[in-house]
Amino acid sequence: MSMEEWIVIGGGQSGLAAAHAVKAVGGRPVVLEAGERPTGSWAGYYDSLTLFSPARYCSLPGLAFGGDPDRYPTRDEVVDYLAGYADHLDVDIRTGHRVEKVVAADGGFEATLADRTLTARRVIAATGGFGAPYRPALPGLDTFTGSVVHAAEYRDPVPYRDKRIVVVGAGNSAVQIAVELARVARVTLASRKPVRFASQRPAGRDLHWWLKVTGVDAAPIGRWLPEQFSTPVLDTGVYRSAFESGHPDRRAMFTNLDATTVTWSDGTREPLDAIILATGYRPGLSYLESTAALDPDGYPQHRAGISTTHRGLGYVGLEWQRTLSSATLRGVGRDARYVVRRLRG
Ligand code: FAD
Repeated sequence: MSMEEWIVIGGGQSGLAAAHAVKAVGGRPVVLEAGERPTGSWAGYYDSLTLFSPARYCSLPGLAFGGDPDRYPTRDEVVDYLAGYADHLDVDIRTGHRVEKVVAADGGFEATLADRTLTARRVIAATGGFGAPYRPALPGLDTFTGSVVHAAEYRDPVPYRDKRIVVVGAGNSAVQIAVELARVARVTLASRKPVRFASQRPAGRDLHWWLKVTGVDAAPIGRWLPEQFSTPVLDTGVYRSAFESGHPDRRAMFTNLDATTVTWSDGTREPLDAIILATGYRPGLSYLESTAALDPDGYPQHRAGISTTHRGLGYVGLEWQRTLSSATLRGVGRDARYVVRRLRG
């Protein structure tokens, strides 16, 4: 069996950016993508999703995101952009190739797929920071007989018309989904901490312009910043005014659920139809479980994307991998370049 120089696992923006970086140093990456298209998770995000950054800050290295640079692109525009990027890359992308297991072997790695095993000197795990929807253990959730859906499965408000709904979470997805649903249903956003808003356009400029000119976007701050502050919800004013109008309303986390009712912290109870868990994600790296690469909680042990347990193993696309923008379209290319150079030695 011949050994590849580079295997990249995942064909979303992180895998494509990694493949671009490998090619830039003269390598020939093999990209293994479980799905049918090299466009990552974008097609599965909810229908109304528009990006929080303008198009001028949504490009991967080597191909500009076309059209008006000041518009906020839609989900489907990103899918089209990534499909075009994959074509333009001109590397070996194998769709329908899910990696089941990776183990260290003979100066490299063995990647097991359903019907074959590939070996490589270096592996980049680029399956992203959002591969595994996180479902917290909420009091009484297992007894609730209404609908319980993670934001990763939410598509549009149609099934929720006239229902009583609780959206759990305080981040961008929680707020966007709660405000969208509140147009057709009675919605409460329940969270442990209050929602923190940040202006999308401070002093008349998009926030991403400020992040870029101040250097904050690319500063290698690792996990320091998120440990001090929760990520704010970017808002042009639409979300804040929706909450001010009470549609949706915001409450402290509920204290209990039973089969059909929710109990709030002031002791009031009411019937409930559905819960939407906008409670975040964890990296989807189960294929590394049989190695020591992950800690007991399933997080990779790494420094700035370079595995601290396995020489030749790197990560691209983890949240806060190196910077504020590590897990975004605008930041992933920078990290990919760094990881590839470090792995090359
Ligand atoms: P993914 O898009 O998840 O791609 C990972 C790929 O790996 C998938 O194609 C999957 O099929 C494949 N894969 C997984 N396991 C395996 C395996 N075992 N073998 C082979 N292949 C595998 N970022 C922005 O820049 N702007 C935004 O506005 C923005 N909005 C977001 C909104 C939401 C709701 C979420 C969740 C994220 C958002 N992000 C945004 C963050 C980020 O850009 C996206 O999550 C993006 O999809 C991450 O790309 P990725 O390639 O790292 O991971």
